[in-house]
Amino acid sequence: MAFLAPVRTERQILENSMLEDDPNENSALETPPADDPAASKPRWGPRHKGAQELANLYSTGKRTQECICVGICIMLMAVNFFFLLMHLQLEKLSTIVVAAMCGIFTADFASGVVHWAADTWGSVELPILGKNFIRPFREHHIDPTSITRHDFIETNGDNFMLTIPFLGYMVWHFVSSSEAEVQKSFWWSCYLFLLAIFVAMTNQIHKWSHTYFGLPGWVVWLQEHHVILPRRHHRIHHVAPHETYFCITTGWLNWPLEKLHFWPGLEGVIQYCTGCRPRADDLKWAQKRS
Ligand SMILES: [Zn+2]
Ligand SMILES: [Zn+2]
Repeated sequence: MAFLAPVRTERQILENSMLEDDPNENSALETPPADDPAASKPRWGPRHKGAQELANLYSTGKRTQECICVGICIMLMAVNFFFLLMHLQLEKLSTIVVAAMCGIFTADFASGVVHWAADTWGSVELPILGKNFIRPFREHHIDPTSITRHDFIETNGDNFMLTIPFLGYMVWHFVSSSEAEVQKSFWWSCYLFLLAIFVAMTNQIHKWSHTYFGLPGWVVWLQEHHVILPRRHHRIHHVAPHETYFCITTGWLNWPLEKLHFWPGLEGVIQYCTGCRPRADDLKWAQKRS
């Protein structure tokens, strides 16, 4: 049945994405056709000219912003965790679990929307936004394993930053509300907390999905049981032109969104209204091979 056919066949994956379980630095060149020697340039990997140019745009200012955001975020997470434990009532456990699960689903959907928006629209040339926030998405498509060479700060800085307003709001809520008010909206606090944790962890989970060597056993277990984004599942996004499977937290929503034609539908509406072509900038970087 066509409905149950795989989203990408093994052959499509092999021909249109970079091998990542190759320990040889992923720099193997394609055999060039006789009439087009330029095709011997790397299509992907750390030797791709566009990837090198993008990697060099990572600045000290950006690094400072990431360090500050990671620090503030971890502090807020700890404070909120303490408040949640302090106000926890075990008889509400079932509501809490449902709220927490909804938080995780929302995080997966949010990861899809942000990833789709950054992959599909805008350009590295945009002021502030381009160099600081769109650049990593472009780099990731032409050198997918560069993420495995990034440290904790570079991997997680931006996602940690996104959660700061939510976690800050939660702390304010806990300190300024009465016990009755805190209890009344406790499920909401659990929802927000799990949403924030999973949004913050998204790029770490994404990094694990690209890591083929030396992953801790518990991470592999979570991947294999599809609690977090599995490696084979995420490879479907890495098939050029990278137009589906954008959710990278748990990936639970990728299949349903694909079947609903959610992303092409949204792109069609935006292209109709603005005239902008989806993935124009991404394609430009992919072609910078020399
Ligand atoms: Zn992408
Ligand atoms: Zn990826």
